[in-house]
Amino acid sequence: MKYFGAHVSAAGGLVNAPRNAHAIGATAFALFTKNQRQWLAPALSQGDIEAFKTACWELGYAPHQILPHDSYLINLGHPDSEGLAKSRESFVEEMRRCQQLGLDRLNFHPGSHLGRVGLEESLRRVAESINIALDRTEGVTAVIENTAGQGTNLGHEFEQIAFIIDHVEDKSRVGYCIDTCHAFAAGYDLSSTEACEATFRKIDSIISLSYLRGMHLNEAMRPLGSRIDRHERLGQGQIGWDCFRFIAGDARFDNMPLVLETIDEALWPEEIAALNSLTSNV
Ligand SMILES: [Zn+2]
Ligand SMILES: [Zn+2]
Repeated sequence: MKYFGAHVSAAGGLVNAPRNAHAIGATAFALFTKNQRQWLAPALSQGDIEAFKTACWELGYAPHQILPHDSYLINLGHPDSEGLAKSRESFVEEMRRCQQLGLDRLNFHPGSHLGRVGLEESLRRVAESINIALDRTEGVTAVIENTAGQGTNLGHEFEQIAFIIDHVEDKSRVGYCIDTCHAFAAGYDLSSTEACEATFRKIDSIISLSYLRGMHLNEAMRPLGSRIDRHERLGQGQIGWDCFRFIAGDARFDNMPLVLETIDEALWPEEIAALNSLTSNV
């Protein structure tokens, strides 16, 4: 089964996320389980948790169709001990929230070395951060997202994500998420069927696609290898429909959340419908 959706708003209560997803015809969704620009959030109440779970159940969203995203403040590869400790604390809290909500995965950006610590040391810190979080929670998989490689951000090369996964002790609770815009910006060509075949073969050889736990289906505004993270409307950027047709028709991307973070929310119902039609044409 293919599950297409978008990163929907949870403003006014987490229960609104599945409702907003349902309203745009999504069979998957992403959400922030707390304000993504703040370190701390009030604990979830039993009422919030029950309302969210009930809405998901009633509207047909199982955990494998939902991809929560953590706060942008968290840097699990932070060069400073204080910044690292704060990030780890906050990440454990985010994992706990997912666990409480009955969600089985949490998507996050690996972090940044900020030019103050070596790349490999920073990647080791990310892996250790994941080990700590997995020790302190149950049932939630840590899902590392590839990045565009802006500035000192980690994770634009899949070898870096493989390095992190290699250093995580519990392989059953670590995985990754491919953002098509980030991959393209990082130099992985997706602009034709042949390019997609080659790129996904390459990624699979670096980290088995069996670790894939979701995707962000984003168009790229900037050219291949720009290292600039600018999303665009589907089909209106440098990647083009061949890539999204390829993903829609490939069973390796079944049964996981495939989520839009394209720039015009008003187009999400149309974009989701277009993706669904590509699946049924295969
Ligand atoms: Zn992200
Ligand atoms: Zn992005």
